[in-house]
Amino acid sequence: MIPATAFSGRNVAVFGLGGSGTATAKALLAGGATVLGWDDNPESVATAGENGIATGDLRQADWNAIDALLLAPGVPLTHPHPHWSVELAKAAGVNIIGDIELFAHERRALAPQTPFIAITGTNGKSTTTALIAHVLSSAGKDTQMGGNIGRAIMTLDPPAPRRHYVVECSSYQIDLAPTIDPSVGVLLNLAPDHLDRHGTMEGYAAVKTRLVAGSARAIIGVDDEHCRTIADQLEKAGREVVRISAAGRLENGFFAEGSQLMHAEGGDARPLVSLDGVGALRGRHNAQNALAAVAASLVCGLSVSDIQAGLRSFPGLAHRMEQVGRRGRVLFVNDSKATNADAAAPALSAFERIYWIAGGLAKEGGIESLKPYFSRVAKAYLVGEAAPSFAASIGEATDYEISGTIAAAVEHAARDAAGDPAGEAVVLLSPACASFDQFRNFEVRGEAFRQAVLSLAGVKPNGDRE
Ligand code: ADP
Repeated sequence: MIPATAFSGRNVAVFGLGGSGTATAKALLAGGATVLGWDDNPESVATAGENGIATGDLRQADWNAIDALLLAPGVPLTHPHPHWSVELAKAAGVNIIGDIELFAHERRALAPQTPFIAITGTNGKSTTTALIAHVLSSAGKDTQMGGNIGRAIMTLDPPAPRRHYVVECSSYQIDLAPTIDPSVGVLLNLAPDHLDRHGTMEGYAAVKTRLVAGSARAIIGVDDEHCRTIADQLEKAGREVVRISAAGRLENGFFAEGSQLMHAEGGDARPLVSLDGVGALRGRHNAQNALAAVAASLVCGLSVSDIQAGLRSFPGLAHRMEQVGRRGRVLFVNDSKATNADAAAPALSAFERIYWIAGGLAKEGGIESLKPYFSRVAKAYLVGEAAPSFAASIGEATDYEISGTIAAAVEHAARDAAGDPAGEAVVLLSPACASFDQFRNFEVRGEAFRQAVLSLAGVKPNGDRE
């Protein structure tokens, strides 16, 4: 745990007592603050109390005696409406911050040279964060990974020289970290998302911009116009920006050419590393993630051969184009995290002969936007509530059946894929739907897929070629 000393001897209110809020409260206590925690959920309040955190309704608190409000990242700061605790803090002129801000403070106090790699963007944050942490730790670096992925940041080991922090930052977390100053800031991409929380695209982009603007080295994916504008603006302001592109050649920076990742300087490009045969990093979107990891790892002083080895051994993240098994020339891929059509598109574009399991609780627009990929789909196996509407969208474009359940879909898709005339085929769960009609969440859905695949006769786990 990292004791948070910023408020030693002072009073702090903590609102939101889930995992990260409780960790924050404990870190503040360890750093010598007096903490009062609260949550709208009585169960969370009770659990925090059992964990030694003083609790009390912040509506009744004397806000003039409170030095800061520590807000859990899920609690609305501005949109759609500020939470009542935010209103009370603002009315009393109390600063509102989050756990990443506490971490930034401790790092400055304890080991300001400690590498702090912060990753944000609309898509690919978790993959890139896990990939950078994997590459660094494979190269023998003392690596701590947390933030929006895995562990709450204040539960990591305290900053020390040569300890590397790889931290996924959601826009909510950046919003609550006014002095965030990573040694390497990565902005992967920007697409309209979470606008309910930030009001407008400008507001959303402005929050994400702060992460790279505050960093010593900025790495920016320039494949969308919002990020290009941000990169241009930072450069105009005299900042050095490392550009990455999975979509085209760059004069300066890192770009992908097929499966080669290239480094360009003054128009001269040379191959650095290759993604050939790296199953966990298939598809153009993963090339963007890998480029960010290469650029960040070079800043951290890794050799090209260490980076290549790290990319090769990356196991990938569960439920994101995860290879769960192989039988002969048929690969089974779990992309349960794809809960809308946009998120399913990268998987559909990464394979040529797809036995596609889709459906669940449909999002607005359904799978209409995926029509360009239907030619790659040998057959679709539709499950859940969305099955009839997805069938209507597919129409005559390709073959489909209403399988109903994941188990039936896996069985039928495996049987059909085994007889695929092209030989090489993939049975892909990329549902383009929420899971709640049949499962508790996308992880449980992905596990159901994995179990169904592994119970098929002759399937080898993990999907690596022999
Ligand atoms: P996040 O943490 O930002 O939600 P993840 O790394 O968990 O992102 O990936 C979630 C899904 O987003 C993946 O399954 C994939 O479909 C898609 N994705 C991943 N990386 C990118 C990227 N760089 N650009 C666009 N889409 C991506």
